[in-house]
Amino acid sequence: RGKRAFIAGVADDNGYGWAIAKSLAAAGAEIIVGTWVPALNIFESSLRRGKFDESRVLPDGSLMEITKVYPMDAVYDSPDDVPEDVKSNKRYAGSSKWTVKELVESVKQDFGSIDILVHSLANGPEVTKPLLETSRNGYLAAISASSYSFVSLLKEFVSIMNPGGASISLTYIASERIIPGYGGGMSSAKAALESDTRVLAFEAGRKHKIRVNTISAGPLRSRAAKAIGFIDMMIDYSLANAPLQKELSAEEVGNAAAFLASPLASAITGAVVYVDNGLNAMGVGV
Ligand code: NAD
Repeated sequence: RGKRAFIAGVADDNGYGWAIAKSLAAAGAEIIVGTWVPALNIFESSLRRGKFDESRVLPDGSLMEITKVYPMDAVYDSPDDVPEDVKSNKRYAGSSKWTVKELVESVKQDFGSIDILVHSLANGPEVTKPLLETSRNGYLAAISASSYSFVSLLKEFVSIMNPGGASISLTYIASERIIPGYGGGMSSAKAALESDTRVLAFEAGRKHKIRVNTISAGPLRSRAAKAIGFIDMMIDYSLANAPLQKELSAEEVGNAAAFLASPLASAITGAVVYVDNGLNAMGVGV
């Protein structure tokens, strides 16, 4: 049987989640995705209307199939956690079972098990503010959406993941080096995500034979990155300074994710793998 992958954080065809889905599909995996509730309608209708058909084309000429799209909001674990104003929000009220526990329960009922879990989501409401000007709420929201969301997803999914399975998240070098402009506690959130990758690799490895890795990706002009506001500068900086002077494509990150999720990487766990044209290895700009 082919592998089944759940990819959390796909809402258009521009981000890393979409590219990872494609690489996994090209390698023969069945694709199911989780889409942030406020983005669900537009994503599903665009899919239905064929807006993504050009970007669904796989190397063999076939179109990537997404077996099912689940609504999700990774900052809530169960219905008890959802505040009234969110519950009554029109976009949220139009969907159901989108908290992490309910989502995993639905996937379990629909499919029984998965082999690969991909976490390709982040959110920091104050990302454009320097850390020194970030509020406690903004900081905690960044950690909740960008770091604990992975702990929560793995915690719930691990019970329906087949032994030998793998999980992958996406991180950014701002966790370990100063990247002015990546604010709001997002640098802190990525540092937590990377540390959790090691601890969870131990815990999920020992208990469930599941591997846990994270990809430290170079800059990509995704929707989320455009919201931060400095993405063009980061792409130019990488072009000027990285060992490989080419623009990073989402597909290159997708292919690395497919490798890490595959048996080819069966001894790799707890790792931060750089897919950034080598920029992380530079000590100074040139
Ligand atoms: P993206 O906009 O394609 O993906 C982010 C996704 O997160 C969106 O689909 C959004 O709807 C979803 N999301 C936000 N809050 C959510 C929540 N509470 N519950 C569920 N989903 C939620 O952008 P991307 O840049 O491809 O981001 C994917 C991952 O890659 C993120 O972890 C990001 O930090 C990481 N990353 C991006 C870059 C870059 O330059 N774009 C570089 C390194 C790492």
